[in-house]
Amino acid sequence: MEQTAQIIDGKIVSNRVLGEIAAETAAMATPPGLAVILVGDDPASHVYVANKIKACAKAGIRSIEHRLPATSTNEEIAAVIDALNTDSSINGILLQLPLPKGLDEDNLIQRIAPEKDVDGLTIPNIGKLVAGLDGLVPCTPQGSMLLIREACPDLTGKHAVVIGRSLLFGKPMAQLLLAANATVTTAHSKTQNLAEVCRSADILVAAVGRPKMVKGDWIKPGAVVIDVGINRLETGKLCGDVDFDEAVKVAGAITPVPGGVGPMTIACLMANTLKASK
Ligand code: NAP
Repeated sequence: MEQTAQIIDGKIVSNRVLGEIAAETAAMATPPGLAVILVGDDPASHVYVANKIKACAKAGIRSIEHRLPATSTNEEIAAVIDALNTDSSINGILLQLPLPKGLDEDNLIQRIAPEKDVDGLTIPNIGKLVAGLDGLVPCTPQGSMLLIREACPDLTGKHAVVIGRSLLFGKPMAQLLLAANATVTTAHSKTQNLAEVCRSADILVAAVGRPKMVKGDWIKPGAVVIDVGINRLETGKLCGDVDFDEAVKVAGAITPVPGGVGPMTIACLMANTLKASK
């Protein structure tokens, strides 16, 4: 019989996380409040925000949406962030990315008060992660870590390879794996012999944005494979950065796309909002 990997179901794990958060928020006198700032008309961003607001309802978190036109200036968005920074009823602030072209995304993110930065993207939160201090950790790597633990609770001494070095994902993911005592390699577009590097991974995390780039023969038999990529094919179907049909025959455990890392990102946003409220 052909070997097939354990499928790590992000919907089941995220529902468990949301249930735990809901139990906590139900016992709170004032539920945590999350403000979501959505600038412009990007259809994908509208879908993401709608999903986040739905998750808030499930987790017992108040959500407040601030919709701003695509013509908004940096100063106008900054004024909204400043008001939310000082609003004591708001615990978390999420600036939906990407912002329309021409806006100063980096500066606006850094304007968010670090204690309300539920995306974990401000320099103080990144610094805390690197320093091993308690802070708000970016949602997608945090969620990926929970999925890795489903298949491999103890990462001590394991070789983890992360493909991708973005600030949003690759860098914080590598830090989390390092903090869990894995030996970590970060690969990127300039990495040589990528397939060979990947084959040495006990844990392989792909966050590149290239459909089905990671082939079955790049994977060490029995490895845990976490597919962060979300790519839309010409057929309209979503697929990850890993060739799932090949990989599932070699890996020990693997996340599907959709239904793997995606739902975890939103669950961890709720977890960060609860944490920020404490
Ligand atoms: P990004 O900022 O574009 O970073 C992509 C990374 O991949 C870069 O570090 C780049 O290397 C590397 N790369 C590009 N081509 C490569 C190649 N041929 N070989 C090896 N490395 C290569 O993207 P991101 O924001 O990290 O996101 C990555 C993927 O994850 C995207 O598909 C995105 O949609 C998905 N994502 C999913 C979620 C979720 O909730 N599931 C959340 C965030 C992101 P260089 O640094 O050398 O350019």
